[in-house]
Amino acid sequence: MSANLLIRGGRPGGGPVRDLLVQDGRIAAIDESVEASTGTPVEMLAGELILAGLVDAHTHLDKTLLGMPWHENTAGPTLLDKIEHERRMRREWGMDAGRQSARQVAQSIAQGTTHILSHVDIDTDNGLAGLEGMLATREAWKDLVDIQLAAFPQSGLMSRPGTLALMDTAMAMGCDWVGGLDPYAIDRDPKGHLDAIFGLAEKYGRPVDIHLHEPEEMGALTLSLIFERTRALGMAGQVTISHAFCLGSEREQIVRPLLDALAELDIAVITTGPSGWTAPSVRQLLETDIRVGAGNDGVQDTWKHYGDADMLERAMFIGLRNRFCRDDEVALALEICTYGGAAVMRSAGYGLDVGCVADLFVVAATGIAEAVARRPVRKLVVKRGRIVSREGKCVRQAC
Ligand SMILES: [Zn+2]
Repeated sequence: MSANLLIRGGRPGGGPVRDLLVQDGRIAAIDESVEASTGTPVEMLAGELILAGLVDAHTHLDKTLLGMPWHENTAGPTLLDKIEHERRMRREWGMDAGRQSARQVAQSIAQGTTHILSHVDIDTDNGLAGLEGMLATREAWKDLVDIQLAAFPQSGLMSRPGTLALMDTAMAMGCDWVGGLDPYAIDRDPKGHLDAIFGLAEKYGRPVDIHLHEPEEMGALTLSLIFERTRALGMAGQVTISHAFCLGSEREQIVRPLLDALAELDIAVITTGPSGWTAPSVRQLLETDIRVGAGNDGVQDTWKHYGDADMLERAMFIGLRNRFCRDDEVALALEICTYGGAAVMRSAGYGLDVGCVADLFVVAATGIAEAVARRPVRKLVVKRGRIVSREGKCVRQAC
C-alpha cells in the first residue's frame, strides 16, 4: 500500500527546514515550500529531524521473549551452552514464533525501523514451525515494514542430520537468505557446512549470511574458505558475514588480507557493536570500501535479557564500541544503521532524496548525534508514505 503525504517544516537529514511531499509512496519534492493536491494529508512539524528509516539488518524475531513472563537465565558460558539452553526453554515454554515475531515487529516500527533482516531457526527439534510463524508475520505486516528472512541452522547443520533437508525446504517456502553458523566451532566440518549452504544459495539463487563468531586464525581460515566459494560460484556481492569477530584481531597480518578480500568480493559485514568480544572496526571496514550494516541481534531472549529493538540505541552501542565521540563520528554509527543496512539488504530506492521510497521517521533533536545519544520518542514513522506509528505507538498492535 502506498500513499500521499505532505510533511511541512521538518529538517530532512538534519539540514535546513523544508517541506517534504510524498506521492504514491515516493518522495516527490523537498523544497522550502511545497503545495499538495487537495485531500493530501498534512503533518506539521516544528523543525524536527526527518531521517531515513532505521534498518535492523540482523535480528532473531522468532526468539524474543517480549511480552512473556520473566525468564531466569541459567545458561552456561559457551555458545553451545546457550544454544542448548535456548532449545530447552523453547520446548518448555511452547514458544510461538508468529506471536513473538509480531511483538518485536510492532516495537521496531514504533521506534522508526522500516526494514528488518531476521534469521529464523531451522532445526530438527522445531522443524519448520518457526518459519511458518515468521512467514505469517511477514505477510500480515508487509504494509508496515519490509522483512527479509534467513534460514538459520542455529543448532548445527552437518552435525545434526536432517537439518540440511529442512533448510532446503525453508528456502523453497520463501526464505530470502541462506544462513550459516561457525562452520568449524559449531559444526566441526567447515568444508561440508560451506559446501551445503553455498549449494543451497546456488540452487535457489539467493544470497548467503553467515554468523561467524570464530576468533583469530580459526575465523580467518573459515573466511578464506568462504572467499574460495564466493569466487568459484561468481557470488561476489551476494555474501554477508555477521559479527566477523576475527576481523577485530589486533594482528594486522591477519586482518589486512581479509579486509582486502572482503572488498574485492564485495562481501558485506554486519556488526552489533558487541561489548564482550573482539569486533571489527567500523571505520576500518568503511575505509576499505566494505558494505557495513548493523543489527540488534537477539532482543530480550534466552541468550541475554537486554535490548528493546531500538536501532538508535544500537547506533549508540556501535558508537561506544568504536569510540565514536565527535558528532560526525556518531553520525557514522547511524549511517550503518540506516544506509549501510539498506545496502546489505539491497533495498531499492532507499534514502531521503527525491524519487526515493518514503520510508522515514521524525524525531525531535537538533542533529543526528543528539538523536542517537538521547533517543527521543519517534514522533512519526512513515512506510511507503503511510504513517505507521505516531508518538511512539505503532498503528497496529501485536497480540
Ligand atoms: Zn544472530
